[in-house]
Amino acid sequence: MSRRARTGNRQAPTAGPKGGTARAPRLHVQFLGTSAATPDLRSNTSAMLLACGTDRVLIDCGAHAVAQLKKAGIAPASLSMVAITHWHSDHASGIPSLVRALPSTRGAGHLGRAPLHIYGPQPPAAIGGVINLLVRQGRIQFHAVGPGGQIQMANGTLQAIPGDHTITSMGWKFHEAGPRPRHILFSGDTRPSSAILEAARGCDLLVHEGTFSTARSRWAHRIGHSTAGQAALVAHLAGAGALAITHISRKESATQILAEAREVYAGAILPSEFELLTVHPQSATVTRQPAAGGNFRHNWARITRRKIAGSRRPGAGRPEVAA
Ligand SMILES: [Zn+2]
Ligand SMILES: [Zn+2]
Repeated sequence: MSRRARTGNRQAPTAGPKGGTARAPRLHVQFLGTSAATPDLRSNTSAMLLACGTDRVLIDCGAHAVAQLKKAGIAPASLSMVAITHWHSDHASGIPSLVRALPSTRGAGHLGRAPLHIYGPQPPAAIGGVINLLVRQGRIQFHAVGPGGQIQMANGTLQAIPGDHTITSMGWKFHEAGPRPRHILFSGDTRPSSAILEAARGCDLLVHEGTFSTARSRWAHRIGHSTAGQAALVAHLAGAGALAITHISRKESATQILAEAREVYAGAILPSEFELLTVHPQSATVTRQPAAGGNFRHNWARITRRKIAGSRRPGAGRPEVAA
């Protein structure tokens, strides 16, 4: 586990690009799709932006990823790469429309160079046909990545961590370059997984799926998912600095899901669509910025290691729900 200064009295960071320090680039995750396989009016299928300095990685590309990027003010052409956790449609069906949204001039379009790099497990044959077509059109380059595979980025690496799902699924772990690296792990779709747990040890931020409530735990296991409480247990056991639970089934109540998670890990949060989490350098602090339209100054909430130290072991007395 990283041991950094706990400066709980730091000033609230700004929402702009000056949020980091001069030495460390700004590092944040923006949630562009937080629902499980079936979206609803409030939430879309999986897509998250991982941004660290010049690196802008789209983690998964659900059906509405392009619209969500544009609503968030992020030009699709500004993406440096796409990393897919697995090939279920709620994580990858937005790829063709994302590619269509990129500038069309090969060699002079996407960041002045073509094509867009997409990383992920080897796709099944039917999806592989679509990917191959896009490759032949010169719009993308696809790189199959197996467990443990690493992608070199400008400000760090992204490593594939095997999950436990109904098809091959991988988490992605961001490891910042430099003497005091920050770490973020995205679990992808997975049952509780020892590989994900090991990779989550000491992470500043764990983004873990928590599709169902405890009442549906058997069903969750059967179809390759975790409950929110199981996600919280992974974060607790791994000593993760902060936990964001996503990929929530529309059958579930967010209030119930969050309460169950906080029984195990007091600082757990359920990010809303467009919410942005910033991992600050040196302070081991993650801050929340709700979606545009909210009162940012009023809504700033802080997750600190001090707060997480108060998280409880499961089954240790009556559950308490953190404020
Ligand atoms: Zn999914
Ligand atoms: Zn899946």
